[in-house]
Amino acid sequence: MNPPATAYTGRFAPSPTGPLHAGSLVAALASWLDARAWGLNHPGSNGRWLIRIEDLDQPRCLAGADRVILGQLADCGLLSDAAPLWQSQRTPLYQAALEQLLANAQAYPCGCSRKDVEQVLAASGSGRARHDELIYPGTCRHGLHGRSARAWRFAAASETVLWTDRRLGLQQQDVSLQVGDFVLKRADGVFAYQLAVVVDDAAQGVSHVVRGEDLADNTPRQILLQRALGLPTPHYLHTPLVRGADGDKLSKQNQAQALDTRAPLAALNAAATVLALPAMSGTRAEALQAWVRAWADRTP
Ligand code: GLU
Repeated sequence: MNPPATAYTGRFAPSPTGPLHAGSLVAALASWLDARAWGLNHPGSNGRWLIRIEDLDQPRCLAGADRVILGQLADCGLLSDAAPLWQSQRTPLYQAALEQLLANAQAYPCGCSRKDVEQVLAASGSGRARHDELIYPGTCRHGLHGRSARAWRFAAASETVLWTDRRLGLQQQDVSLQVGDFVLKRADGVFAYQLAVVVDDAAQGVSHVVRGEDLADNTPRQILLQRALGLPTPHYLHTPLVRGADGDKLSKQNQAQALDTRAPLAALNAAATVLALPAMSGTRAEALQAWVRAWADRTP
């Protein structure tokens, strides 16, 4: 019996807050290579690769950046196997997922402002913060105390989430302790990345997530959401980050330079080096083909 033609679906999911930079191309190239290598290693089963534009956080999006990103990817020969999706057009799906979680008491409305959270944390002597975010002390978990809902949060049970990253190996996190009850829908009505990414990965049948290592820390939250929504958990591979001269990871926030894809092979070679693939000369197509082969050889 032939395996199903879509046993592998991967995706690249850029936020259009600016053009692609050298770091984002690493994730794009790795996810594309992983999908194409699947086809080589599983004859008769094509790997599908999709592009999803994560434009929910409109205040952070830059007008036209989505088109620029799609153009940069096309310059590099990385073309989506289906029409790209824009998350801003899919909010009814995220609302339905939130309602499912509310109905199952796995999410709750929260009336706390940031100041409220800071005060409770200060009073309990735990100024606990993770990255820049405060760990929510659970104030509204059992009711709004007469206030109105500002945001909606996931009710994270105390448990250790174990998961295996294909590069980083076994990982673990107790979300309730290390992150807290995280936001699903913000006070400004915007659905959080965690919820949207889980809903869309499942809706698009994504079996393999390949993305930058800066996102690895989000995976346990996404696994909890998948379990709560009865959705499958994909395989995860987090790719090495590109660091700037100051040692910080390149990001649009620290003004990483837009990737110049007028010379696509140079851009691709730089990304390939980060992925420990050999530098290639020749045409773009020849280089991509050689890297697919190399990726397939080291990804049985
Ligand atoms: N949109 C996210 C970003 O650009 C990536 C989401 C993902 O790959 O899960 O950082």
